[in-house]
Amino acid sequence: MTAILSVSELTVAYGRVTALHGVSLSAEEGEIVTVLGANGAGKTTLLLAIMGAISAARGAISFRGADISGSRTHQRVAQGLVLVPEGRQVLVSLTVEENLLLGAHLRRDRQAVSDEIAAIYERFPNLAQRRHTAAASLSGGEQQMVAIGRAMLARPRVLMLDEPSLGLSPLFVSKVFDLIEEMNRRGLTIVLVEQNTGKALSVAHSATVLELGKVAVSGNSEALRNDRRLLEAYLGGTAETSDEHLPMRASSQ
Ligand code: ATP
Repeated sequence: MTAILSVSELTVAYGRVTALHGVSLSAEEGEIVTVLGANGAGKTTLLLAIMGAISAARGAISFRGADISGSRTHQRVAQGLVLVPEGRQVLVSLTVEENLLLGAHLRRDRQAVSDEIAAIYERFPNLAQRRHTAAASLSGGEQQMVAIGRAMLARPRVLMLDEPSLGLSPLFVSKVFDLIEEMNRRGLTIVLVEQNTGKALSVAHSATVLELGKVAVSGNSEALRNDRRLLEAYLGGTAETSDEHLPMRASSQ
C-alpha cells in the first residue's frame, strides 16, 4: 500500500506554546487512521496544520505523492484534502441546501453536484424535508450530517473529521460511525480524531495516540484496542473499549 497522506516530523507552536513536537503520521490509501489523545494533546492542531490553516515551524506534509507543505488551504482542498472541523461549523443562518452547496463551490459539474445532493437527501430524509430551512433549526446530529455532506461535495480523497461524534445522541453517534465506515468501504481514506476511543478503534485500521504534542504510540488499531494497560496509560479512565466515551485526561492535569 502507498501512503496517500504523510506527515513528517511536524512541529507547530502558538507563540511560546509548542502544541506539536515532531509529530509523524501516515495514512495509507483506503484506510481509516484514528488520532487519539487527551484534551490538549494536539489533535486539532495536527488537523489544522495538515490543512494549512496554521503553519508549521518544522516538518513536511505530502499528499498524493507531492510535498504540499507550501500550498494554501484552498489548494489542498482542491487537491482532495478536506476537513470537517470540530463543532461542525455549519452556517446556521443558511439553509441546509446552501450549506451543502458551499462544499461544491470549487466545482463546475453542476449535474453531478445535484445528483450527489440528491443522494445525501435520499440517505438522510430529515435533511431533504428541511432543505430550504435554516440549519439553525437542525439538531446537532443533523448538523453533523450536513457538515459531512458538505465535505463530501468537495470530492475528498482524504477526509479528516475532528471529533464528529462529540455531543451527539447515541443514535447519531451510531449514524456518524456507520457513515464513516460506509464512506471508507467506497474507498475514501479517513483521518478520524475522536474522544470516543472504543468506537474509533473499532472502525479504524491504524491508530496514533498523541500525548502532550508527541506521538506516544502508533500502530495497528486492533492491537491497541486489546492493550488496556496502554490505553489506560495514555487515555486515562478504565479504557473500556465499548461505545462509551472514555474519560480523557492528560496525566499532567
Ligand atoms: P481537544 O480534545 O481539547 O480539542 P486537542 O488534542 O485537539 O484537544 P489542541 O486543541 O490541538 O488539542 O491543543 C493543543 C495545545 O495547543 C493545547 O495546549 C492548547 O491549549 C494549545 N492551543 C490550541 N489552540 C491554541 C491557540 N489558538 N492559541 C494558543 N494555544 C493554543
